[in-house]
Amino acid sequence: MKNFALGALALIIAVTGLCIGRALMLPAPPKGAAPATIAIDSGPVAAHLAEAIRFKTISWGLDKPLDAEAFDGLIEWIARTYPAANAAMTREIVGGHSLVYLWKGANRTEKPIGFIGHLDVVPVEPGTENLWTHPPFAGVIDGGEVWGRGALDNKGPFIALLEAVERLAEAGFRPSRDIYVLLGQDEELGGDNGAGKIAETLKARGVRFAWMEDEGAGVVKDLIPGVDAPVALIDVAEKGSATLRLVARAPGGHSSAPEKDTAVSIAARAVLAVTDHPYPLKFDDDMIAFLHAIAPETGFVQRVALANLWLTAPLVKAKLAKDPAAAASMRTTTAATIIRGGTKSNVLPQEATAIVNYRIHPRDSVAGVKARAERLINDERVKVELAGGREPSPKSPTDNEGYADLTASTRAVFGAVPVAPSLLIGGSDSRRYTGVSDANYRYMPFTLTPDSLKLFHGTNERVKIDDLARASFFYEDLIRRAAGR
Ligand SMILES: [Zn+2]
Repeated sequence: MKNFALGALALIIAVTGLCIGRALMLPAPPKGAAPATIAIDSGPVAAHLAEAIRFKTISWGLDKPLDAEAFDGLIEWIARTYPAANAAMTREIVGGHSLVYLWKGANRTEKPIGFIGHLDVVPVEPGTENLWTHPPFAGVIDGGEVWGRGALDNKGPFIALLEAVERLAEAGFRPSRDIYVLLGQDEELGGDNGAGKIAETLKARGVRFAWMEDEGAGVVKDLIPGVDAPVALIDVAEKGSATLRLVARAPGGHSSAPEKDTAVSIAARAVLAVTDHPYPLKFDDDMIAFLHAIAPETGFVQRVALANLWLTAPLVKAKLAKDPAAAASMRTTTAATIIRGGTKSNVLPQEATAIVNYRIHPRDSVAGVKARAERLINDERVKVELAGGREPSPKSPTDNEGYADLTASTRAVFGAVPVAPSLLIGGSDSRRYTGVSDANYRYMPFTLTPDSLKLFHGTNERVKIDDLARASFFYEDLIRRAAGR
């Protein structure tokens, strides 16, 4: 008995030692590098964004035409405001109101890089106009911030980029490879006419990108529980989606003499069959890379846990899953969104329909989602129909030139922050370009906090002038790094 206790104690000491040893071995980001001094005049950057916001380039809806005057106004304003950039690049208008800028490089055989953005913005929700401190399309600069719809999504980011191109062109910089700046007109409506048409055009010409950058994650702060330091998250993939229609049928009749089930209860059971069996939470390589990257920034206990996922994975998963967004990045999500059936309180319904919306993790597929639902429902009275779907994007590598350049520019401009891959749980124009690019990164060189995330599509959307200038400085650094060799 005593020997057994000693043996167990030795084992516990050994495992503990191993766990702590692994925690100590996790690579920390290079220490000491402070955020760069942003050596550019932020005044014109802010003034230009304010002007761009005043063009009401609103995506109202798929059934409503866009305001051509506003889009053409913004397009002409870009040409006027960035003369050096416009002289250095060729411009093409695709899809009616989308921009394809090409900055030809010295070496045209090297694969180009592409920057993706969008000219359109979402409308202001009716009834919320008077909640805005400054009118949403006035383009006001106040309190060190630029206010208005699009300040973050996506005018701020593309203005920061155009400012960088303008400064570089003015300074006589000539890229070593082709650089494309692609600004779509309808990202907020799915991108059929903008990014879709641009990608088609480039594909027909045989353009193949080494990598592309688009909106997505950024330098997040106070978003990861237990991590105080900023962390740069680069979205290397985006989820797909599938909508299933579950149609339940049953004999009708009078409600005074019912069978056990009606179409309504059959549909309800079908919904529960899928929602009671959510997809399992899983760590993929990118999730593990993310957890290892943040580990050095956490407290001792958390660090030991994150360094030893072979032992602690179930615990870590359960903890992370308390946050719906974190859970969504580890699985295909299931959301029952609509249920309809029946017409009268005393009539047995013959048909009831439920809609279930899935957001598909890159490890799953549209067909797989449908097959799994059929298996779980397992009821011949229920027909499972696919009412729309989009496959998840392919995953972009983290060991290539593009990821390395994004990492290096982030550390040059934001200081010694950990950089980790992540998954975009929403959608972006990037998915349109996966067929013409070896890699797609969804990453904005902006600091994102819980408060700033609420501003995307929200009330009082605004961006700090310092953040805008930093982003522009980042793009300049990135272009020199990626196309200045
Ligand atoms: Zn956007």
